[in-house]
Amino acid sequence: MTHSFATRAVHGAVVPEVKQRPASVPIYQTSTWGFDTSEEYAAVLRCERPGHVYGRGYGNPTVEAFEAVMSSLEGTEAAVAYASGTAAIHALTTCLASSGERVVSSRELYGGTFALFDQVLPRYGIEVVLVDPHDEAAVAAALEEAPTAFFYAETIANPLCSVADLAILAEMCRERGIISVVDNTFASPYLCTPAALGFDYVAHSATKYIGGHSDVLAGVVCCTAENRPALRGTTIETGGAMQPFDAWLCVRGLETLVVRVERQCQTALELARFLAEHPRIVVVHYPGLPSHPHHSVALRELRAGLFGGTLSFEVAGDAYEVAKVCESLEIAMLGASLGGTHTLVTHPSSTTHRQLDAEARRVAGIPDGLVRVSVGLEDTTDVIGDFAQALGG
Ligand SMILES: *Cc1c(COP(=O)(O)O)cnc(C)c1O
Repeated sequence: MTHSFATRAVHGAVVPEVKQRPASVPIYQTSTWGFDTSEEYAAVLRCERPGHVYGRGYGNPTVEAFEAVMSSLEGTEAAVAYASGTAAIHALTTCLASSGERVVSSRELYGGTFALFDQVLPRYGIEVVLVDPHDEAAVAAALEEAPTAFFYAETIANPLCSVADLAILAEMCRERGIISVVDNTFASPYLCTPAALGFDYVAHSATKYIGGHSDVLAGVVCCTAENRPALRGTTIETGGAMQPFDAWLCVRGLETLVVRVERQCQTALELARFLAEHPRIVVVHYPGLPSHPHHSVALRELRAGLFGGTLSFEVAGDAYEVAKVCESLEIAMLGASLGGTHTLVTHPSSTTHRQLDAEARRVAGIPDGLVRVSVGLEDTTDVIGDFAQALGG
């Protein structure tokens, strides 16, 4: 049967069968897939046959390629990819916790996660108890109060770059049979693989070091093969699935993760050392400095000689002085996010940590003079020179 023009326009683009392996992962930019029979369609839906159904978490080859490389890098059996880090954390939380249960979380949280735990989960009857992750007795006491759905922490937390002792925290959870979740965004899998330290779920905002170029929003949760179906189910039901082009950007980003992160860590360490000597700087928070309270944890937990690409420092003076320093930077850009090729600075007390009131900020150790830096891939000497000129000297 010959078809008319409109029908050929819709169906004429026959995809050739490709038997070779392309160097770059192809982008399967399709939201739906065809079947020969309804029986086959149903079997794929029931996961009894391999295949693809629909783009909202049912699987897509490009997304699956990203999940494969992420589980390989994190040393887990499986992964589920998301439209953003927040979508990942939301799906994981919804999967693991039910109304009437408690979540015990580190109080050192990314601002958006704090908002999810503080504003959204309580409306669904899930209470979040915040603890100091460096106070073992406090964590133990909080974990022992039942029913605890899961424990949550971040490997390196914003903005003081505190490093949680993941091996101890995982052990405390395991002893009590409590599920453990960690947000490994700031470390990236190159610096730390928390599953090897005993964590059950490893979440990322792939928007940061994994994508690495400030051009994509993405997230992922790495877990065991056994835990994947429930998480995948929640993803299908709540809808925050990763899209193919975003998966392609993340796969491409990961190919250069090692060289980017090594360079960012080296520049961050040199910048931290420079700032620590500067007369206008009150304190520098960088786990690579022996003065950082978690330097020894970082030495144990992070890849040898590397301490991350983010740091923060406190400028002497009032809010006006700090604003002037931030605005005088010529290479470093004032803006949200981290882990990209551009050096970025933020002023936490007025931006990322605005959800905390003045007293909570004081408890969290976030004074108005604090500046957070995410080191990019510009020339190290230029970056240090930029901070030198902005600080006036
Ligand atoms: C950015 C970030 C998130 C949220 O990720 P999005 O991709 O912005 O949704 C969660 N945790 C940490 C530590 C982050 O830095």
